Amino acid sequence: MARIAIGGFQHETNSFTPHRADFQHFAQHRDRPPLVRGEALLQALRGNTFATSGFLAAMRPGDEAVPLVWASGGAGGPVTDDAFERIVGELIGSLSRELPVDAVYLDLHGAMVNDTHDDAEAEILRRVRAVVGAMVPVVVSLDYHANISPEMVKLSDAMVAYRTYPHIDRPETGRRAAGLVNVLLQRGRPAGRALRSLPFLLPVDFQCTLVEPSRSVMNWEPSAHAGILNATYAAGFPPSDTHWCGPAVAVHAWTQEEADAAADEYLQFIRDRETAFHTRLWPTDEGVREALRLAQGATRPVLIADTQDNPGAGGSGDTTGLLHALLRHGARGAVVGFLCDPAAAAAATAAGVGAHVEIDLGARHGPAGVQPLHARFQVLACARGAFPLTGHVTGGAVADLGLMVLLRCEGVDIAVVSRNVQAYDPAPFDRLGVDWKACRVLVLKSSCHFRADFEPAAHAVLSVLSPGAYDPDPGHYPYRRLRPGVRLSPGRPGAEAG
Ligand SMILES: [Zn+2]
Repeated sequence: MARIAIGGFQHETNSFTPHRADFQHFAQHRDRPPLVRGEALLQALRGNTFATSGFLAAMRPGDEAVPLVWASGGAGGPVTDDAFERIVGELIGSLSRELPVDAVYLDLHGAMVNDTHDDAEAEILRRVRAVVGAMVPVVVSLDYHANISPEMVKLSDAMVAYRTYPHIDRPETGRRAAGLVNVLLQRGRPAGRALRSLPFLLPVDFQCTLVEPSRSVMNWEPSAHAGILNATYAAGFPPSDTHWCGPAVAVHAWTQEEADAAADEYLQFIRDRETAFHTRLWPTDEGVREALRLAQGATRPVLIADTQDNPGAGGSGDTTGLLHALLRHGARGAVVGFLCDPAAAAAATAAGVGAHVEIDLGARHGPAGVQPLHARFQVLACARGAFPLTGHVTGGAVADLGLMVLLRCEGVDIAVVSRNVQAYDPAPFDRLGVDWKACRVLVLKSSCHFRADFEPAAHAVLSVLSPGAYDPDPGHYPYRRLRPGVRLSPGRPGAEAG
């Protein structure tokens, strides 16, 4: 029987947004469980849809799960030192108390930046390694958007990342991690490990694994399998201003030669496809006009991805550029979700269903030039409290988005929530009684995750630009820490300074 310590700490950091992820952010229940520890960790994550859930389900009978602490903060501005030290301090403290353990499993994201540490996951791994010593296997699972560093590869013994974007394989990723822990418990730590970073950044809009070339990249396999523990690709998260930002492959193997050979082979496979990574991004008005044109005669909605306000990439969820454009173009029958505005939700809830309210909606967090929609809205529906998500990404998890309302302005319906969430799951629409499959144009604050559940019911999909905290073009970011020479987009000239 093996004692396996289990912990998690996840954040996807956009270095270029002014907000900070503080401790309260991790402690709050939104579309994922709040910070949990000990037995509560097992209760919250068993049977759930996170990597830890899959890990727990795949553990060998008889092995003991030793729960530490688990916290997931989604995406946003850098994590405060206070939050980082409190959560990692608790992780390390409980791990120290639980020694000896036979292995450690960490459910990480891979793109966390805090005020002090650019490469926050490497810092977590350094501290974990310092506690457990040189002999105990440490296995990590990562998000597909991880920015993998050499330290992360060096300090871990096996590494898996989600193989899908939209991320519909989180539990499966945890199950693969559990399988690797079992192998390492039998054979010990592997001698070989290799990291190969691609010489270009990949905007998240170009990373979807439902389309080429990412689909082929995920299906790649090494020509020699025998000695390979894992050959892991992560597409990276460009808004993290770190030295090792960008797509990379990480290999753990029984010998260094095998690790290097597989990593080189995988790297070349991706480099050969560099210029194939591309998605058309429409200017605001052109995109809305095109959506309305496509919607004529269509029986299913035309989807607009409001990619720049994707909360999963640091968006505030309350920009109004596309909403203003829909009204400008008379897009009656359009629906927008999910716009995060607690004050508007509270005012509309107080007024009640059927009432009309004249309020400012959205645009409370910038960026400069984004204006609230000041209008008279009809309140069509109100909801509050926890409800189950139903989609492929985190279906089965319970969300609580605070007060929710459905507002109508000039024939355009807006689903308003009080806690920021990416529009990847239809459940909040269902809860507000929105028949989204019957609308003409559906604007979703998401870059790619919406595709898992919304695209199958859509007539067409357009990614449309409209100012928000996430800029899909890394060429616009004032990077300070990026390694010199990296191409800021596939096929582009490299960055001049690091
Ligand atoms: Zn991700």
